[in-house]
Amino acid sequence: MTNELKNILKTLVLILGVVSALLLSAPNARPAWPQQAREQSPPQLPWMKASMVKLEGELIQKYGEGERARLARGLPQAAKFWRAADGGASAFEDFVRSNFAGNPATLDTLFNRFEHNMEQLDGHMHEIAREFSNQTDLDLGPILPFDEAFAGYDPAAHVVDDSFQNKLAFTVLLNFPLTTLEERLTQGEKWSRRQWAEARLAQRYAKRVPAEVNLAIARAEAEAGRYISQYNIWMHHLVDANGTRLFPPRLRLLSHWNLRDEIKADYRDAEQGLAKQRMIQRVMERIVTQTIPATVIDNPDFDWDPYTDEVKLAAVKDAEGGAATRKTPSAAALNAPEPDARYAQLLNVFRASKKLDPYSPTAPTLIARRFDEDREIPEARVKAMLEQVLSSPLVAEVATLIEARLGRPLEPFDIYYDGFRPRGDYTEAQLNASVAQKYPTAEAYKQDIPNLLMHLGFSRERAEYLASNIIVDPARGSGHAMGAEMRSEKAHLRTRVEKDGMNYKGLNIAVHEMGHNVEQILSLNMVDHTLLEGVPNTAFTEALAFVFQDRDLELLGLAQPDPKNRALKTLGDFWATYEISGTALVDMQVWHWMYDHPDATPAQLKAAVLRIAQEVWNKYYAPVFKKRDVVLLAIYSHMIEARLYLPDYPIGHLIAFQIGEQMEKAGNIGSEFERMATTGRVVPDLWMMKATGKPVGAEALLAAARKALSEVSEQAAGSAP
Ligand SMILES: [Zn+2]
Repeated sequence: MTNELKNILKTLVLILGVVSALLLSAPNARPAWPQQAREQSPPQLPWMKASMVKLEGELIQKYGEGERARLARGLPQAAKFWRAADGGASAFEDFVRSNFAGNPATLDTLFNRFEHNMEQLDGHMHEIAREFSNQTDLDLGPILPFDEAFAGYDPAAHVVDDSFQNKLAFTVLLNFPLTTLEERLTQGEKWSRRQWAEARLAQRYAKRVPAEVNLAIARAEAEAGRYISQYNIWMHHLVDANGTRLFPPRLRLLSHWNLRDEIKADYRDAEQGLAKQRMIQRVMERIVTQTIPATVIDNPDFDWDPYTDEVKLAAVKDAEGGAATRKTPSAAALNAPEPDARYAQLLNVFRASKKLDPYSPTAPTLIARRFDEDREIPEARVKAMLEQVLSSPLVAEVATLIEARLGRPLEPFDIYYDGFRPRGDYTEAQLNASVAQKYPTAEAYKQDIPNLLMHLGFSRERAEYLASNIIVDPARGSGHAMGAEMRSEKAHLRTRVEKDGMNYKGLNIAVHEMGHNVEQILSLNMVDHTLLEGVPNTAFTEALAFVFQDRDLELLGLAQPDPKNRALKTLGDFWATYEISGTALVDMQVWHWMYDHPDATPAQLKAAVLRIAQEVWNKYYAPVFKKRDVVLLAIYSHMIEARLYLPDYPIGHLIAFQIGEQMEKAGNIGSEFERMATTGRVVPDLWMMKATGKPVGAEALLAAARKALSEVSEQAAGSAP
């Protein structure tokens, strides 16, 4: 970084600090983002105001009063992002004079040219990235070091910077409105499709972020990601007071995902499952409270009793540990706790994210960027939906059902209960045999795509069109779908076929990915504006793919699970949504706390996270679990490195139920899928209104859970001796 840049950054951070201090000192100050936005922007150039006044007068003189409103919006938008390096007053004035589209015909031409060229830009960049990743993504033999470098290269990384430098971004900002989420929500319903496309075009340039800031964020995220990815617990080295080892040798579980999944798997261990689950809960609590001894993290050289926190040199050796490369601590330091590293990482990520705030005038906090830009559902609405699930009376009813199934009172780790797994009507071997016979090769699956789509209700013509736009590739991993970004390109379905044919798991994934492909093709090729290509956010993408995946047995010509199994699956989804909703609330509150206390120490952040996790627990879980002050809701690893990502999970569940409910109601999946997928990338509520008649909400999930609960209890009553 040059000294000049450093100074600019310092000044900006200083200004931001003063602004936030002012805001924080106001009683009960809650950020009102759109208004606050304008004040947080970097300072304008001294000559800018005079230039703007001059240009406004000149251009109205030239194009007429009718252009006043557009100028009043466009001029300040362009001015806000103009830096000294972009040119002096005369450069700015010349630019505006020659690039303001002052009559409808020029504006149309400008819009059409941008729409076409942006599709070409995105499409070809995506094409390069896809081709460069072929060797790592596809089953094509060894990956050499340079293949990794190709795969890691993002040709589009500097596109936005370049667009500010060559001033195409300023042309857009001068002519099309940069909107806030509030405007898109309150006025979007009345906008024409062209207006929506204009809004999306302008949003591409809603921020101008210095490379240093992006780099700082990427570094902090990568560092936190590394911290999380090495946070393993060696399970055979967990011992209880009697020295019992509950877990098998060499079992190494990554926090928290593998630990959580082990709790789930332990429901099927009748003998030691409960003891294992309790011990894992204790480990999770030690991690959250940072009372875990630093020596036992990812280290099989020590035995640890998570109840007493006693650490000893390992009495058994089951793996090559880090001892050779590590200093063995003195006896006194053996159980020295991890020094709040978890919270230091989170603070680093927060501080790096905050550096971007001054360059993002329409969403000037990470919280606003997540909700207003990525999700496009206001935070207050998301919070209300999560609380609606958490405080639903159905929670207590499902909890009672779980207790009956477990034959014991609930314990805190039962937030991960997954015993509602439906009993399959077919064995895995039966399913594998059917699939392998039908699809011995990837080519056989490809040939069958039109039939599969017709089976789902697409017309022959549409099914053939869709199939002709899907290229099937052999995946190196389990499979994925890669859509195109321009209409002249095709979507790619990456699927895995073993030597003895496709197995059931492979089919299940292939059908899911095919759902993605169909959505990708419809929402790119058949949407009216390519600037509106896609769906509102990833929750929608996934929900649509699950519509296909849920019907995989049907596509195989086998019967779907019976209603009881479906009801059990719904209850499982409901319980998972209940768990993750509380976790998401904690994530949200923690980010607010960090914005309110930007200078906190890791220890202070830890205290705040523990308090927040306990408060959410005490409010929504303690009444059901009959235990207070549990901190488990703070264990989710994404909370540390994924920057307020967690609310996406519960929102995804809610959206999946809404779309699923509508598909059932409509009957014909094909036409309904097409109707939904061609709406394009408007805000989620508008999309959902058009798709189902209601905005995004929790009602569909709650209705399905209510129905499932009554079906399951009826069945239980009916089958009682
Ligand atoms: Zn998916």
